[in-house]
Amino acid sequence: MDTLAHAAIGGLFFSRSGVRAVKHPTGKPFWRDWTFWAAAGFGSMPDLASFGVHFCGMLFSGELREMLRRFLAGDVMAAAPPVEMLPHYVILNYQLTHSLVIALAAGVLVRLFWKPGFLPYLAWPVHILCDIPVHGRSYFATPVFWPLSDWSFDGWSFGKNLWIVAGYWGVILAVLAWRIKKRKSGVART
Ligand SMILES: [Zn+2]
Repeated sequence: MDTLAHAAIGGLFFSRSGVRAVKHPTGKPFWRDWTFWAAAGFGSMPDLASFGVHFCGMLFSGELREMLRRFLAGDVMAAAPPVEMLPHYVILNYQLTHSLVIALAAGVLVRLFWKPGFLPYLAWPVHILCDIPVHGRSYFATPVFWPLSDWSFDGWSFGKNLWIVAGYWGVILAVLAWRIKKRKSGVART
């Protein structure tokens, strides 16, 4: 799943001002709700901590511009460099951030030491669950049980099946539209 979709799912489902506010209004717009930004951050962190760091490095070497040019020309897989060309830390960080074992252990710490952060934190394990079916073993399958096991599910790559991207974005935008409509009817009632 693309990183922006993970951030959107985080902000929409795991913040106080997302869908939760329909039943429990916060009285604040989403941009003043810290849990919205924290949830978008937890949702996108697994990809930013691995590919994001690498793409930042490419920005300085000029390689990123070439990759974007190919991507915009219709070569979507240009945004997915071959595994053997990636630095080892990208793979290690990907394993660390895409393992449910690690994420759940971190969740226990968040619950114990930072209770208000627990709702936004949930966007992290949900990122992993969303990635499992949309990554194939040929490219960054989700190492869900790492480091206990290297097993991964051989799913359908979202980069090669753009109908998957259209499908999940359709659901995200439908929920967003519903949330905005609910806010408007709430305002009309008061
Ligand atoms: Zn991911």
